[in-house]
Amino acid sequence: MRVVSGIQPTGSLHLGNYLGAIRNWVSMQDEVEGECLFFLADLHALSMPHDPAALRAGTLEMTAALVACGIDPARSILFNQAQVPAHPELQWLLNGTARMGWLNRMTQFKDKSGKNREGASVALFTYPVLQAADVLLYQATHVPVGEDQKQHLELARDIAQKFNNDFASEDAPVFTLPEPYIPPEAARIMSLRDGSAKMSKSDPSDMSRINLSDDPDTVMKKVKKAKTDPEPLPSDAEGLAGRPEALNLVSIYAAVARRDVGSVLSEYGGQGFGAFKPALGELLIETLGPISERFTELLRDREALDAILATGAAKAREMAAPTLAETYRALGLLRG
Ligand code: ATP
Ligand code: MG
Repeated sequence: MRVVSGIQPTGSLHLGNYLGAIRNWVSMQDEVEGECLFFLADLHALSMPHDPAALRAGTLEMTAALVACGIDPARSILFNQAQVPAHPELQWLLNGTARMGWLNRMTQFKDKSGKNREGASVALFTYPVLQAADVLLYQATHVPVGEDQKQHLELARDIAQKFNNDFASEDAPVFTLPEPYIPPEAARIMSLRDGSAKMSKSDPSDMSRINLSDDPDTVMKKVKKAKTDPEPLPSDAEGLAGRPEALNLVSIYAAVARRDVGSVLSEYGGQGFGAFKPALGELLIETLGPISERFTELLRDREALDAILATGAAKAREMAAPTLAETYRALGLLRG
């Protein structure tokens, strides 16, 4: 089993990223027999307008955040794409296999380009091919994906299959078809300002999310100001139907405490948010406190962060080399 997953280093890590993805990455380090590769998708950041200084700082910040959350660079391969040129190289090689029709169907391009299709970057259109390269390069067997990324993983499988069909013999395929990996506890956390929108790095309102770098006062303030309704909490999960904001806060509590929603409601059912919010705030402060302290500490040591990324990238380059060489060879490209 080999797991590969990435995160864009734009914006700061929030509770949704942590509960929905990173916490699972951390436990995969113990559960997966084989290698875990986690990368910062800095090349993907070029698909949207971006500020170079912010990308540079964001890459270091995200590295510190991942390590603070428990990604262990001694056990997992942690790196940024920009230090492993095999990623964009393989993307170009796969561009010959990917079909326009396949990319035209990607809903994320439609969502992110919005009405300005003509003004969108070419990178935004071909981004899913780079994502395919990200995982195929390492012969990933499993890719942890959220709902929003399922279509891109399907595309990676289509590309791998067509490439194998066109350029490899049946008994010696060049690429492994990666399977989606659905973690046992994958929480989907919503915005604190709107129970129908997901918590996200790119939401302009900082009050909509809890950042892993928020200090205790900020965490408590954000929880207390979170949108809710005037009703007390129900005593069972069915009572949360039609109350997305209440459901979100209870789900956050449950995910952080590793309990189910029913068990949280058996404790807090009948109580109002005046009692529940401070309890949730305390729980978050207690859980995130050590992570945020470690994060601040790591951020101060630029050299250590550079070294983590350099070491991870060296391992990734080595692991990528055979597949990249095989791809060139299969395509008939002479390399001396
Ligand atoms: P952006 O707004 O820039 O897309 P994001 O907050 O969606 O940022 P990503 O870098 O796109 O973050 O996603 C990183 C990982 O976190 C992915 O695995 C994604 O599925 C997961 N994730 C993002 N937001 C949430 C959320 N609200 N709840 C659970 N998981 C989430
Ligand atoms: Mg996203």
